[in-house]
Amino acid sequence: MADKKSEELYERAKKRLPGGVNSPVRAYQAVGRTPRFIRTAKGSHIIDVDGNDMIDYVCSWGPGILGHADSRVVEKVKAACDDGLTYGAPTEREVEMAELLEKLVPSMEVSRLVSSGTEATMSAIRVARGFTHRDKIIKFRGCYHGHSDGLLVKAGSAALTTSVPDSAGVPADFTRHTLVAEYNNPESVEALFAANPKDIAAVIVEPVAANMGVVLPKTGFLEFLREITERYGALLIFDEVITGFRLALGGAQEYFHIKPDLSTFGKIIGGGMPVGAYGGREEIMRYVSPDGPVYQAGTLSGNPIATAAGLATLRILEADPGIYNRLEQRAGTLADAVREAAGERVTVNQIGSLMSIFFTDQVVEDYASATSADTKAYADYFGFLLDHGIYVAPSQFEAMFISDAHTQEDLDRTIQVMKDYF
Ligand SMILES: *Cc1c(COP(=O)(O)O)cnc(C)c1O
Repeated sequence: MADKKSEELYERAKKRLPGGVNSPVRAYQAVGRTPRFIRTAKGSHIIDVDGNDMIDYVCSWGPGILGHADSRVVEKVKAACDDGLTYGAPTEREVEMAELLEKLVPSMEVSRLVSSGTEATMSAIRVARGFTHRDKIIKFRGCYHGHSDGLLVKAGSAALTTSVPDSAGVPADFTRHTLVAEYNNPESVEALFAANPKDIAAVIVEPVAANMGVVLPKTGFLEFLREITERYGALLIFDEVITGFRLALGGAQEYFHIKPDLSTFGKIIGGGMPVGAYGGREEIMRYVSPDGPVYQAGTLSGNPIATAAGLATLRILEADPGIYNRLEQRAGTLADAVREAAGERVTVNQIGSLMSIFFTDQVVEDYASATSADTKAYADYFGFLLDHGIYVAPSQFEAMFISDAHTQEDLDRTIQVMKDYF
């Protein structure tokens, strides 16, 4: 397939943008190809500047649960634009969004809109610290919560008490209060609490990890986190930036029947526009300024256009109770077909409309097993799919997203290409 125009754009882009992109994974460095520059997208298909028409399983990394440019959403956005792009003053739609959030996700008693998932998680952590008067937090290796300083960490040599930055430019002092545990490993969490019994403000977790590839929580793991946080007076934060409105209308907390103290959202909640949200128990959220002492603000927070896109998307999902079964069925079909075609060569993890094909024969249930995957093999597979019109994430450690726009024809074609590959 031709990618002459993408190559030209990439050459130009590299001169003026780091890696030629505005977010690193887009540069295709892990798969050794030229990134496709996109011209347009509709439904399940994405078309690049050279005219390559591809079935899209990236879905903008999650927001696209309805597929691209859903006319019901686009209409609301266009109408909102005519009324002004931003006011820096409250609007009725923000009230509707907060009310709808509480209805769909009952733990979100009080919420605040922000403009990205990164902002949502860093703000939720600030509130957790303000509320508990404690400084330390626990996160899990392989879980991603955005790029704020305190969350770009890896376990240090004295992992029970300290972590070290996982990015240049992050002072070691800034990661001092972030402790790193192992996903699906209760003992690692117990040990951190035992070593810091009165210092931990919160545990933040992706209830289904989807940023080391998709890794499901083991039975009882999330229940355990609920129990131990209560036992030590810490808060439980579910980062539902990916799982929210995707695993179920009420997110992973509905799917697994666990009520966190605070939750964060992004991706789907913006319907393709930049939106994030954090919220939870009223008693905690009343600490947020101007009700309380925890400062957090945003010039474009609750932006009228972005809120219109998000509201339209959530209302479509709410009005279509069958959608989550449909998505689950499609993803299940795809997962089964890959398992059958690839046999021992891969491990397929799938839940709802999230899945990952790991190039390993190990069971993938934590960071160590996820990173046992053969990234060179993935790059080869990625290249084959790309050349055959199937657009999947340019990294082994990202999810595949199934949308409501994926048709049986799309799935059949995808399965055929995968069979040809394996
Ligand atoms: C994408 C993501 C974030 C960060 O959201 P941005 O909008 O990219 O800042 C946070 N948490 C999880 C689980 C994510 O997948």
